[in-house]
Amino acid sequence: MGKGDAVVVGGGLAGTLAAGALLGHVDTVTLVERDRYPEQPAFRKGVPQGRHLHVFLSGGRRALEELFPGLNGELEAAGAHRLEAPRDVITKAPNGWQRRFHEGRHATTSCTRALFDATVRARVLAEAEGSGTRVEVLQGTEAIGLLGGADRVTGVRVRARDAGRTARELPADLVIDASGRGSRAPKWLAELGAPAPREEVVDAGIGYCTQMFRPAEPLDMVMVIQPRPDCPRGAAWSPVEGGNWLLTLSGVRGQHPPTESSEVLGFVKSLNEPTLYEHLRTCEPVSPPYGFRDTSNRRRHYDAPGALPEGFLAVSDAACTFNPIYGQGMAVAVLSGLALRRCLAESGLRPGFAATAQRAVARASDTAWLTAVGADRPYAADADTTPPGAAERLRSWYFGRLADRAAIDPVVGAAFRDVTYLAAGPSRLLSPGVALRTVLLPRVRGLTDPPLRVES
Ligand SMILES: Cc1cc2nc3c(=O)[nH]c(=O)nc-3n(C[C@H](O)[C@H](O)[C@H](O)COP(=O)(O)OP(=O)(O)OC[C@H]3O[C@@H](n4cnc5c(N)ncnc54)[C@H](O)[C@@H]3O)c2cc1C
Repeated sequence: MGKGDAVVVGGGLAGTLAAGALLGHVDTVTLVERDRYPEQPAFRKGVPQGRHLHVFLSGGRRALEELFPGLNGELEAAGAHRLEAPRDVITKAPNGWQRRFHEGRHATTSCTRALFDATVRARVLAEAEGSGTRVEVLQGTEAIGLLGGADRVTGVRVRARDAGRTARELPADLVIDASGRGSRAPKWLAELGAPAPREEVVDAGIGYCTQMFRPAEPLDMVMVIQPRPDCPRGAAWSPVEGGNWLLTLSGVRGQHPPTESSEVLGFVKSLNEPTLYEHLRTCEPVSPPYGFRDTSNRRRHYDAPGALPEGFLAVSDAACTFNPIYGQGMAVAVLSGLALRRCLAESGLRPGFAATAQRAVARASDTAWLTAVGADRPYAADADTTPPGAAERLRSWYFGRLADRAAIDPVVGAAFRDVTYLAAGPSRLLSPGVALRTVLLPRVRGLTDPPLRVES
């Protein structure tokens, strides 16, 4: 008996990783991608966020190594930077600068999104050879609907994007929606008579702007300036391949960064961090600034009991997106790929697989969701203005103290980074050593000036 056929909608990062997770577990994978991939790594329309700074967190790196051993090294060989936090990444939190030392726990990756996706795609396609799974990539083809009924999805309707716009049907035992933020799956499911998933949205109204520069003399550190209540504007400055650096600016509603090149430096100046401002003045812009506004946290609860027809699941941005300021989405795509691979290894494609895998994928995004939404809820347009209850006040008090201590205290800082870099679940923040230091030691401020040298 065959193992079954899968169709993956969307050949971006999550779709490629999902295809990679399926290798050896199904007979065929058809990856449907509406764009045509460029010959060399380059921006493409289907991934509009691809011009913006994309840092890949340590939790994602670990999961990627488990899924495809050596792939982090391949990214570095292709030009990506490996950056250790907090040694190579200095961060200004709302209470001041965090200490800079070598902790050796959190390696991150920084490169353009185009390089990242192309390197992962090349590896997955290479692994397909000899895996026992035949992989076909349908480029220039868009999914336009699902086949089947309310209880079971049995395939995908696709249409070529060339002049003929020929439509055809792709039957499948499993359909994975990896079509990103703009996924139309809720509408497609409704067309089959299936209920649309419950949606949760928390929108802090963050606006983004990114411009590429070439420094004459690069800094030896990434700089991250987080928005804070008295200055709800932020910046991140990080190297990518080829000697270029990306500057991403952000601001909440009413404080959105400019998309005019002539105004970018002025915005940076308003952050009151002369190190970054003076450095940028010596750098040559090599792209215009690009804006991005759709930054809400949105979760579609496909994992709720009975929410899914058999044979369908949604992964990564198609199921759950995050405010990009926390840099989590790619790591979640990899964690979801790993969760999918583990479910397949346990049981293969059996009845009920989609619901089990969907729950595992949802768990893979839980930490990112809780941290992003926890931080954004007070800024949301529909923020609850009723006075918080005692439990809520206690939680805010604890996490406020913890975040402040994390800037200075290596024990609390290690736990804070473990969770925010998606290498551990939120319970790590409540472990006895962390809780005692948070509660019993005095509240602290961070450093006043950016730590330009690594502590010895
Ligand atoms: C401004 C910004 C900055 C970000 N910064 C970071 C960061 O620093 N670190 C981080 O980890 N994450 C970051 N993210 C999040 C990250 O970009 C996403 O989480 C990630 O791209 C999700 O991958 P995906 O494959 O689900 O979606 P996408 O990368 O969006 O890919 C979706 C794919 O589906 C294809 N597609 C769509 N519809 C169809 C269709 N109907 N038929 C066929 N193909 C289709 C598209 O062409 C595309 O190739 C950022 C996001 C934004 C918006």
